[in-house]
Formats: sequence, C-alpha cells, structure tokens
Amino acid sequence: MIDPSTPQLTGAEEVTWDLADLYAGMDDPQLNMDLDACDAEADALGETHRGRIAGLTASALAALIARYEALAERAGKIGAFASLNWTQDTQDAARGALMQRVTERGSRLSQKLVFLDLELAAAPDEAAAAWLADPAIARWHHWLEVVRMYRPHLLSEPEEKILTEKAVTGRNAWDRFFDETQGAARFDLDGEKLTRDQVLNRLYSPDRALRQRAAASVTAGLREAQRTNTYIFNTILADKASDDRLRNYPTWISARNLANEVDDRTVAALIAAVTARYAIVARYYRLKRRLLGLDELLEYDRYAPLPAADRLYTWDEARDTVLNAYARFAPRMAEIAGWFFDRRWIDAAVKPGKMGGAFSAGTVPSVHPYVLMNYEGRPRDVMTLAHELGHGVHQKLSGVQGMLQAHTPLTTAETASVFGEMLVFQDLMARETDPAVRLGMLTGKIEDSFATAFRQISMNRFEHAIHTARRDEGELATERFNELWLETQRAMFGDSVTLTEDYGLWWSYIPHFIGTPGYVYAYAFGELLVLALYARYQANSAGFADAYIAMLTRGGADWPHEIVKPLGVDLTDPAFWANGLDILEGLVAEAETLAAATGH
Ligand SMILES: [Zn+2]
Repeated sequence: MIDPSTPQLTGAEEVTWDLADLYAGMDDPQLNMDLDACDAEADALGETHRGRIAGLTASALAALIARYEALAERAGKIGAFASLNWTQDTQDAARGALMQRVTERGSRLSQKLVFLDLELAAAPDEAAAAWLADPAIARWHHWLEVVRMYRPHLLSEPEEKILTEKAVTGRNAWDRFFDETQGAARFDLDGEKLTRDQVLNRLYSPDRALRQRAAASVTAGLREAQRTNTYIFNTILADKASDDRLRNYPTWISARNLANEVDDRTVAALIAAVTARYAIVARYYRLKRRLLGLDELLEYDRYAPLPAADRLYTWDEARDTVLNAYARFAPRMAEIAGWFFDRRWIDAAVKPGKMGGAFSAGTVPSVHPYVLMNYEGRPRDVMTLAHELGHGVHQKLSGVQGMLQAHTPLTTAETASVFGEMLVFQDLMARETDPAVRLGMLTGKIEDSFATAFRQISMNRFEHAIHTARRDEGELATERFNELWLETQRAMFGDSVTLTEDYGLWWSYIPHFIGTPGYVYAYAFGELLVLALYARYQANSAGFADAYIAMLTRGGADWPHEIVKPLGVDLTDPAFWANGLDILEGLVAEAETLAAATGH
C-alpha cells in the first residue's frame, strides 16, 4: 500500500516541458508583434470582405479561408502559450495578467471576424453548392459544411446581435449566478464549513458514518438553496425552449446534436442501447455491496473505496509501460508518444501553484501538443498518462488537417485517449498476478467507465424529462424535479442501490444542466464508441491498427459517422453500441470471478 501522508519520489519531479517551441518566454518580443499582426490582419480582412462574401468565386473564397486559417493559427499559438505558461503557476500575477490580456485581445479578434461565419452561413444555397463542389475548397470542405449546417437556424444579423447582447444579462447571467452561488455555498459537517467539492469528496471515505453525515450535509445545503436553484433551472429551461422555437430546432436536444455533428437518430440509438443494459449497473453494485460487506447499499455508499492493494510506479516504469503497450498495438503510435518524453512536450512534476488534473493541449498544427499531468506514481496516474498521450498522439496526427479541421467534436475527441487507456489497462492486468490487486484495478476501471457511460445517460434521461416537462407543464416545482431525478436514477440502479427521498434534491448542483444543456451524453458516446472499437480490434486485429491510425489522422475533417465507417462501424445501429456495453459486462463478470477467488 502507498502511504498517502509521505510523498514518494517517482522520478517525475524533474519532468517539465519546454514551451520555447511556442515562445521564448513571457517577454519574447515576438509575442506582442504577433498580437498586433493578428489585429491588423483581422481589420484588413474586414475591410476587403465584409458584406461581399456571398459573391466570391471558389478560388477567391479559398484564398480568404487560407488567410483566415493562418490568422487563427497565429492567434491560437499566442493563446496556447499564455494558458500553458499560466498552468505552471496559477498564483503568479504576471502569468495571470498575460493570460487575461491575451483572452481580452482574443475576444475582440473574434468579434472582428464573426462576419465571416455569418456571411458564409447566410450565402444562398446555389453559391454554397458551387463552392463545395470546387476543388479549390477541397482542403476546407468539411469546415464549410459545418458552418453551413447552421443556415436553417440563424436569424438576421440585427436579430443575432440583439440575442448575443441580451444573453449577457439573460442566460449567461443566470449561468454565472448559479456558478457563483455554488462556489460560495458552504456545507456544515462536524462543526466545519466545507465547500461543495470538499463535502462531496467525503463520499469517497472508507468510514461509512462519515459518508452518511457528508450526504446529509449535502442534502441540507441543497435544501437551503432549493428555492434559488429551482428558479434558475426553470429560467434556463424556459430560455432554451424559446431559443429552440426561434431557431427552428425540432427537439430540446437537436441543437446539441448539431454541435456534436451527429443526427438525432444516432443519439437515440445510443440512448436506447445503454438504457436497455442498465442491468449491468445493478449487477456491479450488488457485487460492490458484497465486497463492502453491507446488507444494503445506500446512495452514499456508491463511491466507498474497496480495499485495494496499490503499488508505486516510477516515472520510468510508467513511460515504459505506456510505450510498450502502444508499440504492441502500433509502432507508429509508440513512436509519436515517445516524442513527448524525448522532446520535452510533457510536464509531469508536482509543483506548488501548478494546475491540478491532467490534459493534452493540441496548441496549433505548426507546433505540437503539450501534455500536463501531476504524476504521483499510483496505478491511476499510469492510466492518466496513457489517456493524455492518446490525446497527444491524436492531436499530432490530425495536425495535417490544418488549424480549421484538426479539432474533433466532443463525440470523437476521446477516441485515442480511452483506447490508449484500454491498451495499458489490459497490459497491466495481464502482468499482475495478485488477485486482490487485480480486483482493485478492475473495480476502479469499472467505476470510471460507469461514470462516463451509464451515469451520463441517466443524467441525459433526467434532462430529457425536465426539458419536456417544462415545455408541456409550465413552471416546475422543486418536488417535480426531485421526482424526475429519482425516477431516472432508480431506473438505472434498480434494486441494487437504495436511493432515499433525501437524494431527490441531488440534481440541483450539477453545473452541466445549466451551463451546457444536453452536453452529458457525449461522454457516453465517446466511451462506448471506443469500447466498441476495442471489441472489434480484439475480435480481428488484422489491419485494424492501420485503419485506426488513418481514422485518427482525419481529425475533424469529416462527419464522425464517416470517419469511423472504414472501421466497419455504423453509428445508427443500436447493435454497434451493444459491443461496447458487452465489454463493460465482461469486466463486471471478471470482477465477480476475482471476488470469488479472493473469498467474497
Ligand atoms: Zn480525455
């Protein structure tokens, strides 16, 4: 077991990235020169093209897009440097000030350039058809398709202007009010006043009585705020309904699906497939109840840690583990992942002031991605390394599509990361012989996957219920929200977890419902897409890696369903999603077997 009270040396202490590939430093004169050049170029584009885009020939449009892309790349490089530099010490005023300055300049820049998207979307269909058919546009074909997708949903320019301006004091204000009240909320626990995240963290405690008190504290805090939260939810739901009506979106989820570049039918197939397999969740929590030695599993027991035997991985072991697992799948993937170590594209040291968590920042195609993490040597950290390097390899490969098409929508953004994690997980499992350690790794993996797949879909069902109810029934009472929350959560847990009436209020702190309605299902989409691909690879590995790398290289240059098609995937087929769910069920069955072997 790792003793959490004494930090262990892992060898990651000296692993820092080198941002000089972006800029030499905060005082690099090139940075200010680039900022000014972006401004000047945006002004120049506005002067020559504003109000004239619909009349452009395909080759004139291609020239314009090329300039726009170069500008976006230059601005993206500045933004990437400012934010990556800030993550190294978020307490440092100079770093914060640089980021704020770059953010403000960036926002002015997008205002200057917004005419381009609007005019491209508003251009007559005949003009757009001619552009899209012309080889001059081929390099940006999908980007233009996506811009055009919004045509049926855009209003006139003065209307758009009014909506944007009034949103600042309308829905955005409610969103910020929600975030601020959540941030300021304090929860009483054992004589202490805790923040929401602190009190929620107590749900991971091995001490059941503490978990129970923490849950009661959350409920009490939410009850105090229920009037405010119910009002905010009702307002956001009504605002969304009027937006959808004004913009001709047929259902509450259609606008989100459009942004995710998937059609309503594909999302419906995903949801049908997942809800049909809720029994997998109940099966796992029955096992977890046995492993915890409890007669009844209550809502506050779901995150209780299982006795797991951890071990420490040094940084070198972690690197070798990930690179070897990648190499067995495809040498090309290991080669690219290796650059992150050899060329200082990764920052893994734990440092005071450094941002927590982990990410891979794609930055811009002319440079390369950077990975940030805080490596402490737990098996979890090895998985995080595998995950973020998956993103990094994906971003490096898709760079060939250029600034405007390298990025994927959220639905396919996790393709390489979750796949990379799975490769490493299977590799670690295969090498571990102690059944208790294996069981700990397996339950960790299952709970992570459930959080991404099943929990997000059950939350999507709640969102569906409240958006529909607000449209059909008018303003909703707190009790109505509670009822719909318990209904959609109980549907998933069945009789495996007892959800008390207290748990009814626990919808009211989840920020996604307010900030980005409809967002949550995309997590499940990404996770299950990758698990299904992994199942395909296990069933037939011949030629898979090459097709897979080709898919990653496409980045965001085509619709997600077209990008995965060469791998034999039909996203509208519920049977496809079942492949990913079968993997999860297999993991649960494996955990049951290991539990039996360890005497449970
Ligand atoms: Zn990720």
